[in-house]
Amino acid sequence: MYEDGLPPLREVISNFGLNAKKSLGQNFLTDLNLTGKIARSANGLGGCDLTESIIYEVGPGPGALTRALLMNGAHRVVAVEMDPRCIEAQKEIQAAYPGRLDVFQGDALKMDEQTLIGDTGGRPVKIIANLPYNVGTALLVKWLTLKDWKPWYSSLTLMFQKEVGQRIIAAPRTKAYGRLSVLGQYRAEAKIMFDVPARAFIPPPKVTSCIVAITPKEEQPETPKQDILEKVVYAAFNQRRKMLRTSLKALGQDPLPFLKAAEITETCRAEELTIEDFSRLAKAYQ
Ligand code: SAM
Repeated sequence: MYEDGLPPLREVISNFGLNAKKSLGQNFLTDLNLTGKIARSANGLGGCDLTESIIYEVGPGPGALTRALLMNGAHRVVAVEMDPRCIEAQKEIQAAYPGRLDVFQGDALKMDEQTLIGDTGGRPVKIIANLPYNVGTALLVKWLTLKDWKPWYSSLTLMFQKEVGQRIIAAPRTKAYGRLSVLGQYRAEAKIMFDVPARAFIPPPKVTSCIVAITPKEEQPETPKQDILEKVVYAAFNQRRKMLRTSLKALGQDPLPFLKAAEITETCRAEELTIEDFSRLAKAYQ
């Protein structure tokens, strides 16, 4: 038994027959010290702590992170899980923390999070999750490309494969710099908090993982519309080896006038542009 009166995670996994399914990106954490560290790393992000926040968790699985969030004082946790076996396992946690954990079954990609969370009573919402690797990037893009900014959440604390984390925080003129870097950095600040070794998971994945913290920034008046920026960034990186005067033709018009208006050399390639360059370019295209 742990201090929350619940069995060790390995026991939960065995009791509920949670043999990991690859199709659901299942790599489970079992060490509550580690998940406690993940939970506490969200304190202070976006100007608020766990204890005052509602946490939205995707894929609670057997519950290592869910339990750490509750043990570290999260006001309420709202979780979405696809696997019915894990929903059963979550019932023990719900019983240990009456009224503080709501679990919904479904696909997080299709969820309207604000409807699920319901009345926040004015509390901030943090997203904290050990994401299934097969939909992790799609979920991140969903949360970063919201039309309304600042968004409904105050911070993201997410587990990714290290290579994905490095793409999110990458700087221009590096191999990792791409669409995810621009989306992660033009209206938000992103940083890698710490690495998590493969051996921390059951079953261990092939690669090291990391915890990425993302905090939304205030939207500046000069920020281009999100959907326009996304279109420009997609076109530029879709043919990242080509010069912008060629790759941006995919936008359906001659790119030279708006490259010139944004004061960007037409022979540059996407990876040479800073976030500010992309902002100016999208503004000029807009
Ligand atoms: N949070 C648990 C932990 O840290 O041990 C489990 C993490 S595991 C990497 C990902 C979890 O997401 C699994 O429990 C899996 O069933 C669930 N999952 C996979 N795809 C999902 C989806 N589209 N929507 C919601 N949950 C999903």
